[in-house]
Amino acid sequence: MLSIENVKSAYGRIEVLHGVTLHVDAGEIVTLIGANGAGKTTLMHAISGVQPITDGAIRFAGERIEKRPAHERVAFGISQVPEGRQVFAPLSVMDNLKLGAWSCRDADLEPALSRVCALFPMLDAILETPAGALSGGQQQMLAIGRALMAKPRLLLLDEPSMGLAPNLVDQLLTVIRALRDDSLTILLVEQNARAALAIADRAYVLETGRVTLSGPAAEIQADRRVREAYLGI
Ligand code: ATP
Repeated sequence: MLSIENVKSAYGRIEVLHGVTLHVDAGEIVTLIGANGAGKTTLMHAISGVQPITDGAIRFAGERIEKRPAHERVAFGISQVPEGRQVFAPLSVMDNLKLGAWSCRDADLEPALSRVCALFPMLDAILETPAGALSGGQQQMLAIGRALMAKPRLLLLDEPSMGLAPNLVDQLLTVIRALRDDSLTILLVEQNARAALAIADRAYVLETGRVTLSGPAAEIQADRRVREAYLGI
């Protein structure tokens, strides 16, 4: 579904992705783990079109997309849940969700809302509440719900567990698994490598802008370097 070949990206003259190659097959959860500053968010932004690339190719469903603007990539089937949720604080939950559906036809709005509210019943009960008044866990569910409103085929999830209490992380993992089981494809960036590897099918390790390790999640979890550097074992 997604293939990234030798992608480079820079901020000004400072290159932070030095030729990243990875792929995500339809129906997979693939996780990208790595330390602070490794380039995980930059790569997510390069896929969604927020960050330009200086070299390489990004293919989605077989088509080159690296030159397409971000809004076209959303309409094509890629939605990003940004790091730090980035909900529109003064707007109601309902209006945040509607904004996620801007690329859809009017007729698709109600079914999309019903689907998101069924997935997150807690949002259904607070549709008129300003998003800024929500707890961190509720905001994370809203950010995922907003991304789902565009009916993506590929969901980019950037650090969804950040700042959440352990019981909320468990709920979140259950939701991510349910989305995959509902045939959504997911690329998951996480500092919580333990949680990410527990639900992922495959994993990549990104270190200072380069992929240094990749494979089935169980193999990555068992790798001595990963256990020492990311799992604290
Ligand atoms: P984190 O987990 O801390 O978000 P990350 O792996 O997502 O880290 P990035 O946020 O992609 O890493 O950052 C990669 C590098 O690019 C870092 O050195 C960071 O300081 C730098 N960087 C990120 N955003 C910018 C920006 N807007 N301008 C300049 N440099 C940036």
